[in-house]
Amino acid sequence: MSQRRRRARSPDGLCEAAEPQMESDVQPLERLRAHVEAEATNLPGVYAMRSPNGEIIYVGKSKRLRTRLLSYFRGRYPYHKGARIVREAAAIEWSYLPSEFAALLEELRQIKRYRPRFNVALKRDDRNYAFIKLTRGKAPRFAVVRSAGGDERATYYGPFVGAARLRDAVRELSDALGLRDCSHDGRMAFADQVELFNGPARTPGCLRHEIGKCLGPCVAAPREDEYQARVRQGRAFLDGEESAVLKPLQHAMELASERLAYERAAVLRDKLQRLESLRDLFARLRFGVEALTFAYRVPGVQGDDRVYLVRRGRVRAEVPVPHCAGEWESLRDLAGRLNAPTERTSAVPGHEVDELLLLTSWFRARPQELARTAPLPELSVLMQA
Ligand code: SF4
Repeated sequence: MSQRRRRARSPDGLCEAAEPQMESDVQPLERLRAHVEAEATNLPGVYAMRSPNGEIIYVGKSKRLRTRLLSYFRGRYPYHKGARIVREAAAIEWSYLPSEFAALLEELRQIKRYRPRFNVALKRDDRNYAFIKLTRGKAPRFAVVRSAGGDERATYYGPFVGAARLRDAVRELSDALGLRDCSHDGRMAFADQVELFNGPARTPGCLRHEIGKCLGPCVAAPREDEYQARVRQGRAFLDGEESAVLKPLQHAMELASERLAYERAAVLRDKLQRLESLRDLFARLRFGVEALTFAYRVPGVQGDDRVYLVRRGRVRAEVPVPHCAGEWESLRDLAGRLNAPTERTSAVPGHEVDELLLLTSWFRARPQELARTAPLPELSVLMQA
């Protein structure tokens, strides 16, 4: 019996959508393999596996799509990752891209868009880097995380190298500012909240409030504005505006000294010293995201080179390589606009965290690629292919 195929451009941009018709005498795996063998080429690109009900269950990328896709059918054991994915797939779609870098970016975008369940379960684990996350909610706290995970609305700082040391530093910062570091999100309240007067007495969730390292929103000890002011100080500190935190402390210490309150002055001095050493530690651990600001020319495997305008580790624009002086001039204008200093904070929006990690890892693993970059907006180095 013949095998009928229906080919279509899928609405999500995976342009080689193919939906071979099921025939009772053709095994689904064999059908998919035959489709890949017949159609796929060894070029860079992204691919997606769809379940029988059309759900995208996995997105991947490869420098050599055909080889990669065929490898799914060689899984020797049914519990292997590839074998498990392809067993659930009813269709494979793919789209070619000019380079491995383009494929990597597109893979990330497709994963963020569709959140395929196998990508979530088998997510890449970038152990080198960590971020400081400022959580949302009533009483925000600083936490160390590997990626934005599902919370793209929170604020992130980083990336930093060395999660263990970063965790210690963040704990110290929270201690110094009196911020909570627990995960009892649901029980936070403030002294100036009316509901408290009717509620039962609260007990601290941990010792930190009793030993003076946390203002204690779990027992509704601080006023909301008091707690939020400490959060703002923490953000300013992580933004590199340490004077917003250190200067008031210095001032308070001097005042305590003048008033002969030596015990208080000593406490403030210790705090000041801790914060100064934390400032230096954060500076050492922080990965230089500013260094990832440039134009990056990436050769296409079929001559379709592209230029990526990268600012602070994130791709802000991408265009085919210009073909004439006028196009270069337009690109230089665009680069100049993108390079204008608009960000007053070093915080990274949650939705940009994964891309920042991707670029950081890409250039860290391939430092030779930096030779293809040029500072913004000066692009003349890139004009020679
Ligand atoms: S004292 Fe309360 S709010 Fe502070 S860290 Fe402990 S449990 Fe959390």
